[in-house]
Amino acid sequence: MIPGARLVLLGRQGAGKGTQCVRLSHHYVIPHISTGDMLRSAVREGTEFGLQAKAVMDRGELVSDGVIGGVVAERLAADDTRERGYILDGFPRTVGQAERLSEITVGAALDLVIDLVVPIQVVLERLAGRRVCVDCATNFSVDSPPRYGWVCDNCGGEVVQRADDTPAAIQIRLDLYERETAPLIAWYLERELLTAVDGLGTAAEVTARLVAAVDARRP
Ligand code: ADP
Ligand code: ZN
Repeated sequence: MIPGARLVLLGRQGAGKGTQCVRLSHHYVIPHISTGDMLRSAVREGTEFGLQAKAVMDRGELVSDGVIGGVVAERLAADDTRERGYILDGFPRTVGQAERLSEITVGAALDLVIDLVVPIQVVLERLAGRRVCVDCATNFSVDSPPRYGWVCDNCGGEVVQRADDTPAAIQIRLDLYERETAPLIAWYLERELLTAVDGLGTAAEVTARLVAAVDARRP
């Protein structure tokens, strides 16, 4: 039996969190829970909640802690995450959300929080070139596009630039990251849950470092 894991991946926008979360979710056979993807799919479904979230997201601002905390609490109560664990991508991103997460995980504590570290200059270049599949959220870039036009290799969906990858929204998101999310690094360090991993290199190199960091923490 594969033991699973309960993980959080932190890191700036464009650090490669999404890609690495997908790879780790395959490695440990655990669900990948991306709050950004969950919100974008609510937007596509056109639910009332999705419509409200869209305006906030397009500006690059954060959905309220209460709302996003409810979404995550519900997802972490499902059988798959209770039994196997999960990798959280994009949550928590405020101290309020981290406090909510520790309430949610009472009795099944996190194994590890990883800060995926990439210099700001690299992040800015990656965000400007980032493209994403509207259907399955696979990331591409202008430097490594899909094989056939802007059609997703994985599912055939349309590959586009995200509405919040404009220069203005990128600036707002990076500022919010520094102000709201970066303090979580110290917060989790104090609780002896944090490890930093270098996010530069090929996707496979970074995954190997992440797996080594996770395995070092597990019995
Ligand atoms: P990025 O990390 O590149 O900013 P995400 O895909 O994680 O993008 O999130 C996109 C948007 O969804 C955020 O800018 C925000 O508006 C909203 N969002 C996602 N996760 C959260 C969260 N934990 N709390 C508040 N808002 C969130
Ligand atoms: Zn796709």
